[in-house]
Amino acid sequence: MVEMIDKIKTLAKNGEKEIIELRRHFHMNPETSWNEVETTKRIAEELKKIGCENIKVGFGGTQCGVIADIVGGKPGKCVALRADIDALPLNDEKDVPYKSKKAGAMHACGHDSHAAALIGAVKVLTALKGELKGKVRLLFQPAEEHGIRPGAKALIDGGALEGASAVFGIHVMSTVSSGVLEYRSGPFMAGADSWETTIGGRGGHGSAPEGAIDPTIAAFEIGNAIQTVISREISPRDTAVISVGGMKTSSYVFNIIPDRVEMCGTVRTFRPEVQERVRAAMTRLFKTLGEAYRCKIDFKYTPLLPSTINDPDMTTLAKSVAESVLGAKNVRESELVMGSEDFSHYGKVVPAVFVNLGVASAEKKSDMPHHSPKFDVDESVLWNATALHAAFAWKFLEEN
Ligand SMILES: [Zn+2]
Ligand SMILES: [Zn+2]
Repeated sequence: MVEMIDKIKTLAKNGEKEIIELRRHFHMNPETSWNEVETTKRIAEELKKIGCENIKVGFGGTQCGVIADIVGGKPGKCVALRADIDALPLNDEKDVPYKSKKAGAMHACGHDSHAAALIGAVKVLTALKGELKGKVRLLFQPAEEHGIRPGAKALIDGGALEGASAVFGIHVMSTVSSGVLEYRSGPFMAGADSWETTIGGRGGHGSAPEGAIDPTIAAFEIGNAIQTVISREISPRDTAVISVGGMKTSSYVFNIIPDRVEMCGTVRTFRPEVQERVRAAMTRLFKTLGEAYRCKIDFKYTPLLPSTINDPDMTTLAKSVAESVLGAKNVRESELVMGSEDFSHYGKVVPAVFVNLGVASAEKKSDMPHHSPKFDVDESVLWNATALHAAFAWKFLEEN
């Protein structure tokens, strides 16, 4: 084990220059969710050059996304490695030679690094192909940031996990020190849902409420009541958030009672049971309180992204791989993360584990928040991501 990890680390480190060059290429040529056509072409070219098999391009009815296989010299299972590849609709405000060349597009979440590091791992694993017991499936996934049309779902629907027994994914993290890996078994990142409602009343004169059915009263009441779902209907040991994102009346005049109020918002939860409880409770409160105030309620709750739940066995494997690659002192347990990831979809199909790799360095100005126009990564960490991908795949195939 130790010998093989050392070999993987050496191969990954030898490829460092190319990984950084590729990352800069993607960084300068960013493409937003479901527009990753050139990025896809470049990745497919690289995979062809390295000698991957079963290369499949284009998912969700688009030309975006690539999957491919590295077929090992010995029989065994199939393990998948995932990198997302999309940029965000932002203007790059950094002052660096590899700044985005496109207005309105920027790799502000580090997905350029993910793509480059995984291509590095493809090279490492291909060099060790003869010793691989099984297959490594490579997932270069578009549209992680899309939210409504997640790329992960499109890849799964396109057969990306067929035959796969596990999935591993890494996100670079600008809130974690360079070279430190954070893992967490079980619920890790929150699930994100949206909700919207129309509260229908009967409009009328502001001076004569008796002739109207005032939907604003129901809206105020419900807006407060739904917060009791968090405090009174789920366990204090669980974590959840309900937020109102918007509120709109059908008219906005000082002496008119509007006939309609619209509201929308989001819900964040970690466990499917809690998500279901919140959904049911909100539906009940909207309906009954709306009725109590004589209003007609139209309430729609849409689950967007499931929570990212790490499989305990896969987490143990990822932790031990990380300890051998980065050293035990650089591997620690993560807190719950309130952000969401569409990687969660893979975990609904096969055992999956997602980890965060720190890239924050004040000196390298890589400690800006994700999705900020000054976001950057500490590139000296990227070969570690390459080694982690390769080592996880190798160890999984060795042990399963
Ligand atoms: Zn992001
Ligand atoms: Zn991201």
